[in-house]
Amino acid sequence: MRAETAGITITGTAQREAWHSKVLPPVELVAAGVHSVPVVFPGNPMRYTLSYVLLDGDECVVVDPGFDSDEGHGQLIAALASLDVGPREITGIVATHFHTDHLGMAARLASGSGAWIALGNNERRHISAFEDAHEESALDQTRMRAWGVPEERVPEAAMTPESLLDMRRLADPDRRLGDNDILSVAGRNWRIMDTPGHTPGHICLWDDAGELVLSGDHVLPRISPNVSLEIRGDTDPLRRNIESLQKIAGNDHYEVCPAHEYRFRGVGHRARVLEEHITERSREVLAVLSAGASTVHDVARQLTWSRGWASLGQLQFRLALSETAAHIRYLATSGIHPGVPGLVAAP
Ligand SMILES: [Zn+2]
Repeated sequence: MRAETAGITITGTAQREAWHSKVLPPVELVAAGVHSVPVVFPGNPMRYTLSYVLLDGDECVVVDPGFDSDEGHGQLIAALASLDVGPREITGIVATHFHTDHLGMAARLASGSGAWIALGNNERRHISAFEDAHEESALDQTRMRAWGVPEERVPEAAMTPESLLDMRRLADPDRRLGDNDILSVAGRNWRIMDTPGHTPGHICLWDDAGELVLSGDHVLPRISPNVSLEIRGDTDPLRRNIESLQKIAGNDHYEVCPAHEYRFRGVGHRARVLEEHITERSREVLAVLSAGASTVHDVARQLTWSRGWASLGQLQFRLALSETAAHIRYLATSGIHPGVPGLVAAP
């Protein structure tokens, strides 16, 4: 992950100040009927999710309600109360993708209100409600061994039954949203854009009349969102992500409302910078492969990591491996390098 904000205009200045002072940003009115609400993401360096509350008469739709914790739930309910909305009055929930810091709280909010829950057409989580988390975790350990992870680090790299159970508890959607669908709420017609990459069914919501885009984790102002070869993910997620960056790159004057960090203008510039980072990283991966690295782990340990390879633990270690695997797959499907044995495609 690399941090830079040159070339974009930061519009969420209070959000950026809060980011630097390590406090929660304020609840803000972004545009008529569109409010941003920070919801804590405990124990994660992203610190919080920016949820968006879309209000319109009797309708209240929450986009990316955030991670499910009592503290985060209290923050969201307090913000709604300040807007004169009770928890039972939530009518709909949209998650830009299935990750726990986006979809996590949907089940709790829906059980108190009966709100519908919507996800992108192509979104799928790592485990279904019918699968055994222990079996899946064992399979994932096998995958990590095939990626060349030393035996003593396999338990750390593989998904644990606990994390898979957390994922299995996520709400099932009642509605699916696909490319160019229109969601009318808050007096605005939100156009859905499929933006696979970070996850297979990630979506962004565009308000063309109001020149706003809710970008989820697809485009963030400061860091590069993680793109990984994952269980049941895309088989070539990096290619999907590059296509999605090119797809979102128009409309530089729109205000981008991301799910983390702060609002900004300059989505085209930002998308190009993110694409350049991918290209640079691919070159680095290719150099290591060409020098003879023979497994995903062997490649990953020779790449540069901002916090240093040795300090990557657990989740960061796993993400480093699956990001490297995504690059190896991309180089292989581009016909640039045959890849490494043991890079098993996610089913
Ligand atoms: Zn996120």
